[in-house]
Amino acid sequence: MSSVSKLSLIKREGQVYSFLLEGVDDAFANAIRRVLLAHVPTLAVDDAIFHKNTTSFYREYIAHRLSLVPLRTEMSPQELVKNYYEPTAQALLQFKASEEGLKEGKKVVYASELKFEADGSVATPHPKIPILELSSGQSVEIELTAKMGTGKQHAKWQPVSACTSFRYPIIEISGDCGDDCSKCAEACPTGALGFKDGSLVVVDPLSCTLCGACVEACPGMISVRGDENRHVISFELNGQMDAKTLMVTALEILNKELLNISSQLEALAHEKKSDES
Ligand code: SF4
Ligand code: SF4
Repeated sequence: MSSVSKLSLIKREGQVYSFLLEGVDDAFANAIRRVLLAHVPTLAVDDAIFHKNTTSFYREYIAHRLSLVPLRTEMSPQELVKNYYEPTAQALLQFKASEEGLKEGKKVVYASELKFEADGSVATPHPKIPILELSSGQSVEIELTAKMGTGKQHAKWQPVSACTSFRYPIIEISGDCGDDCSKCAEACPTGALGFKDGSLVVVDPLSCTLCGACVEACPGMISVRGDENRHVISFELNGQMDAKTLMVTALEILNKELLNISSQLEALAHEKKSDES
């Protein structure tokens, strides 16, 4: 395997990012995917003290819903790496709601009521997440502590809601297709193939799933394979941090872990040499 030669952002749709990793094999790309998903630390509610709860929802239910609300993590990659090894960062929050503003006897309370105690700002980038519904005379008041953790411990700490890694699709068309033929494009379930000025073209290589339906539709004229040295890593951010901070932190953690294993192997080799001499 050659070393990682290039990492580039090749697509962004809303909060869904796709990076192209060149010069890595399947195992290395998958290792990065797993670190992105399960090892980059984030903040999430982990303790709740209920001062009041006259709603019709159990305390456990409310605490669980609040713990799944993504919280902003204004930390640098260096601070995040530090918190991966020693999760010390914490934040105090409040969640308060009363019957004020009830409409037709009901009121939905959103994550926008989850506020940092220090400055009273809304703690989540997703303030429209519904938490509970209040009826007349009901209210809730909770003091919460958010702690650092990783997706490996619980999904509430995952910085991404999905993370995939696949070989970059190489689609090759050999020969002259002639006019009025579109069998392969019609067979393609993802719209990766299309026509430009009457000629068959690959319109969206990233949407190709390597299913082979186009090859079946026209054996011999079209071939599809995944590039073993180029991988696409795609993820959807949950909102705790930006994509660059996430990727840099993941690579830094993976690098540290590999260096750690490498130094342990060196120590073992040294020990073996000493035993033999
Ligand atoms: S690759 Fe085959 S099916 Fe596709 S346009 Fe060309 S001839 Fe038709
Ligand atoms: S392999 Fe499947 S997804 Fe890819 S271009 Fe062919 S039909 Fe479309």
